[in-house]
Amino acid sequence: MRLTSFLLFFVVKAFALPGNRWGKLTAAQVEEFKESLGRTDADKFHDALLRARETARFASSAQSDVQIKEFNEAVKVISTKTLSKKSGGGVSKVNINSGIAEQLYKGDMILTNEQIDILLPSDDSNATGRKKRQAQAPALLWENDGTTKVYYEFAPSLTPAAKAAAQAGINFWHKSTCIDFVQSTTATNRIKFFRGSGCFSNVGMTGGVQTLSLGDGCETIGHSTHEIGHALGFWHTQSRWDRDTYLNVYFAKIPAEWRDQFTKETKTTNANYGMPHDYGSVMHYDGNELSPNGQTYMVTKATSYQDNMGSYIVGFYDVAMMNTHYKCTAKCTTGATCLNGGIRNSRACNTCLCPAGWSGATCNTRPTGCGSSLTAKAAVQSITIGAGTAGVNLVDFTTCNYLITGPVGKKLEIVIATMNGYECLNGCFDNGIEIKSIADHRYTGIRKCCSEDAGTKIVSQKHIVPIIAFTRFNRQTARITYRWVESTVASTATTAQIPATKPSY
Ligand SMILES: [Zn+2]
Repeated sequence: MRLTSFLLFFVVKAFALPGNRWGKLTAAQVEEFKESLGRTDADKFHDALLRARETARFASSAQSDVQIKEFNEAVKVISTKTLSKKSGGGVSKVNINSGIAEQLYKGDMILTNEQIDILLPSDDSNATGRKKRQAQAPALLWENDGTTKVYYEFAPSLTPAAKAAAQAGINFWHKSTCIDFVQSTTATNRIKFFRGSGCFSNVGMTGGVQTLSLGDGCETIGHSTHEIGHALGFWHTQSRWDRDTYLNVYFAKIPAEWRDQFTKETKTTNANYGMPHDYGSVMHYDGNELSPNGQTYMVTKATSYQDNMGSYIVGFYDVAMMNTHYKCTAKCTTGATCLNGGIRNSRACNTCLCPAGWSGATCNTRPTGCGSSLTAKAAVQSITIGAGTAGVNLVDFTTCNYLITGPVGKKLEIVIATMNGYECLNGCFDNGIEIKSIADHRYTGIRKCCSEDAGTKIVSQKHIVPIIAFTRFNRQTARITYRWVESTVASTATTAQIPATKPSY
C-alpha cells in the first residue's frame, strides 16, 4: 500500500512537470481553457485528474476472469462488422483530437472545486476529511429568481452552425421539461455558450457565469443536447453506478490514458430514479470511440442493442429522468392519463410528452406526417420505409413514423430485407431506423443503419411495434417484412437487463 502510494506520487509528479502539463494545447488555448474553468482551481483540477488517471490505469488488472469471460461471450454473438464500426464523432473523440480531453473529467466535463473533492482522489499529503462529504449531492439544480430557470448567452466566438445547434438543444430541453431557458447577458448565474477547443461543460449550476463549449466538431444537436445535459446535472450513462448490470467493459482494451473515463459513479453521487440504463441515451459513449485501432472495449449485455451506444439522440428515459430530477412531473397533480410510457407535460398537464413513435393527447396515436399505420397478418407483407429528402441537410433530425399492429396476444416478427444509403456508424449517429420491440416503449428501440444489417430478424414482446426512420442528411430507405407470430416464439433481447414489463409509470 505504502509502496503503491510512493510510486504513484512519482508518476503523478513526473506527469505534472510544467512543460508537460497542457499536452498539445497551444498557449492561447491554455489561456482560453483556464478562463473557461471559472472558479475551478486549474492546478487542483489538473492534479486530481492525473491522480484519477493513474489509479484507473490499473483498472484492467482488477478485472475478474468472470468479467472478461462474459465480455468474450458477448463479443461472439455480435458480428465482427458491428464491432468494427466507426464512431460518428462523439464528444470524447472530438476532444481527444483537439487535445482537451485530458484536461477534463471523463472526457468532457469541468468540475467545481467542491465536485473535485467529492469525485476525484485527493492528494494523500494533505487529506483532511474533505473526501468525507460524499453524501452531498455533487451537482446543483438550476434555480434563478425562485424558479427553475436557466439563463444563457451566446458568445460572439460561436460559429453559426454551433449557434444553431446550441439553440436547437436549448429548444429541445425547454419544451421537454419545466426548465425555462431565458437569454440574458447580464443574469448573475448563466451559461455562456462559446467556441472553445472541443465540447465540454460544467455539471449542474455552479453559480456565476459558467461556460459550455461547442467548438469545431461539436456543431450538432447531438453534441449540444449532450453538453446541456451535463449543464443540467447529468453524468454519463456508461458511468452509472449500476452499469455493470447492462454493459461489459474490458479495461485492457481501452488505451491506458483513457481508462478513467470508464470508472463508475457511486450510488451517492449518481441518482437514476429507478429508471433503466438506456443504451440509446444521449449521455452514452459508443463502444470503441477512444480506441486508436477501432477495437471494441464496451459491449451491451443485450447484444441486439450494440449499435445504440453513441447515438447522441435524446432518449425518452433521458427526458423522463430530467423531468423527475427537476420535479417537473410533480407539478401535474392531475391531468392527462398518458399511455405507452408517456408522462404528463408539466407545461400543459392535460397533454403528454410521448416516447418516439407515439403522439396525440395521451400518446395513443402515430405521429402525424410521413409514415403509415400497418396491420400485420399471418402472411408476410413488406413495405419500404425511410426519412429525409435527397440533398437536404438539417440541424435537427427529421423522422417518419410507422406503427405495426397485430392481433392482441400475438407477437410481431420484423425482418430487415435491405438498407439503402445509410451512414454505417456507431449509434446510427446520422441516420437509421429504430424498432421498438420490447414492451416498454420508453426504452430506445433497436437501431440499425448498415447495409449488412439486411437479414436481421426481430421478434417483439407485444402486438404493437413502432418503427421510426430518422435522418439529419439526405434520404435513406429500408425494406422490411412483417407478420404476426404466436406468443410462444422467443422475443429478441428479452434479457434480464432490460425491463421486459412496463415499469411503474
Ligand atoms: Zn459528456
